[in-house]
Amino acid sequence: ARRMFVAGNWKMHGTRADVGQITAISIDCETLKQTDVALCVPSTLITRAVAAAPGFTIGAQDVHHESKGAFTGSVSAEMVRDAGAKLTIVGHSERREGLGETNEDVRAKAELAINMGMRVILCVGESLKVRETGQALRHVEEQLKASLPDMVTAPLHLSIAYEPIWAIGTGKVAEVGDIAAMHNRIRNALEQTYGEGHSSIRILYGGSVKGSNAREIFTTEGVDGALVGGASLTAEDFMPIVEAAE
Ligand code: 13P
Repeated sequence: ARRMFVAGNWKMHGTRADVGQITAISIDCETLKQTDVALCVPSTLITRAVAAAPGFTIGAQDVHHESKGAFTGSVSAEMVRDAGAKLTIVGHSERREGLGETNEDVRAKAELAINMGMRVILCVGESLKVRETGQALRHVEEQLKASLPDMVTAPLHLSIAYEPIWAIGTGKVAEVGDIAAMHNRIRNALEQTYGEGHSSIRILYGGSVKGSNAREIFTTEGVDGALVGGASLTAEDFMPIVEAAE
C-alpha cells in the first residue's frame, strides 16, 4: 500500500513572521508513522523554512519551464532546489487558468524538476463548466496525459493532485463518489503511461480540505492524501488534517 501524503500549499501567503508555524508543524509531524507531510511555501521563504524545520520537507509552488535564461521574475528548478526545496508543485489551476500555462509547459516543468532530483506534485482538475457538461472525467484524463513527464524514473518522484477548480477556496468539496471515479480514471491513465511503475504514484485530492472533512476524503477509494491550501497556513488548522491521514 502507498503511504499517505499530505502537502500544504501556502500560495501567496507568508513572510518571516509566519515561519514559526512551519516549525510548529514540523515538530508535530515528527512522531508520524504512516504519513508523509510537506509544505510548499513562497520561494522567498524556502531557505528560511528549511532552516526553521530541519528534516522536514519544504517544497516550491512552481518552477519555470526552461532551465535558465531571460525570464524576468521567474525561478528555475535548479534555483528552488539550491534554496532547499525537495519538491515542487507544477500545473496548479491558478497558473494554468490565471497565467495561461499549457499542458506542454507543465510537462516541461515536471521533467526539469525531476531531472534536478526533486519530487513533483502535478495538478489537474476541471472547471465548473466542464463538470456541468458531464465532461470532467474525459477532460482531466486528457489534461493529465498531456502533462505527464515522459521518463522512466518519473513514477518514483511523482504525485498527482486532483483539484476541481470549483472546489478550490470555495468551501465546496467534490462528492466522494465523484472523487473516487476521478481517482480511478487517473490511476488507469497512469497505468497506461507508466505500466508497472504507476503503483508508486500517489493521487491526492485538493479543494477545501479541512479538519472536519479530511477523514471522509481520506477513506475514499483511491485517495492517497491531500493538497491543502487555506487550511495549511497554521499548525492549528493543518494538524487535524494530517492526523486524519495517520
Ligand atoms: P484550498 O484548500 O484553500 O481550497 O486550496 C486548495 C488548493 O488549491 C491547494 O493547491
